Amino acid sequence: DWAALKSPLRRFLDACHADFSVETGGAVANYIPELGKADPNHFGISLATIDGYVYEVGDSREPFTIQSMSKPFVFALALDTLGADHVESAIGVEPSGDPFNSIRLDANNHPFNPMVNAGAIACSALIREAEGDGAFEYIRQALGRFAGRELGVDEAVFASESATGDRNRAIAYMLRNSGVIKDDVSKVLEVYFRQCSVLVTARDSAVMAATLANHGINPVTGEQVVTPYAVSRTLSVMTSSGMYDYAGEWIYRVGIPAKSGVGGGILAALPARLGLGSYSPRLDSHGNSVRGIKVCEALSAHYDLHMLNRS
Ligand code: GLU
Repeated sequence: DWAALKSPLRRFLDACHADFSVETGGAVANYIPELGKADPNHFGISLATIDGYVYEVGDSREPFTIQSMSKPFVFALALDTLGADHVESAIGVEPSGDPFNSIRLDANNHPFNPMVNAGAIACSALIREAEGDGAFEYIRQALGRFAGRELGVDEAVFASESATGDRNRAIAYMLRNSGVIKDDVSKVLEVYFRQCSVLVTARDSAVMAATLANHGINPVTGEQVVTPYAVSRTLSVMTSSGMYDYAGEWIYRVGIPAKSGVGGGILAALPARLGLGSYSPRLDSHGNSVRGIKVCEALSAHYDLHMLNRS
């Protein structure tokens, strides 16, 4: 009997999927109109260990746009590409307590941190400083190294966000006003909107997270994608600001550095242990996937994974 041969972790993930499939709270994001077309019933979970074993349950190969889950990886890439001093002088590391799309900047008129839109747009601008018109391709290839496979773009989501992204335009103009962006605002936003439209699966998210958990080495491909410095600083900002204005509650209850996106993905990286990726597009009022939060809470509780409860 196959069920009897399943590992305890596999059985636990199957049970999470079954238990939380009945959860229908929350709503698919529609402020980017194209995102509203997602099937609210899709639900995939994947867990990648740092020795490169990948577990998958449900719709783990269903593609969705990475959205804000791109932010930690592009921040790590910026640290390695431009040097920490340059990046850290442009973007802060304080939690803002504000929603992800807040127009508010810090007291120096810089972004609070790289996990909110202002900071992520600044990261995209920094990559453009280094790579010019090749910036998006540079980012896409780096995201692919984290995932261990080539990643494409959802052109319809990109067009939809470009057409409706005035709030992000406002943020980018403010950053240009304060000198954080020196470039053409529309070119920076094109990179940012495209990076948010990169297609990933729950499995990709798990491997990307596991790469952060594994000192920047993709545990499936063995490739060193970013430096340990970039990884530890990225995990730091995920810890303090990764889950929108739920970040404090999250690190208190779940205790695993994580980042969510309005496409319905959540990725969580427990250093030296594992990466988790989940996809379910119904979001709560903070913008976090309702089922994804439940999976992470259950995993953390069941295996006692709170990072400050290590022995
Ligand atoms: N592209 C989205 C935006 O900037 C990302 C938001 C998110 O996932 O938090 O509005």
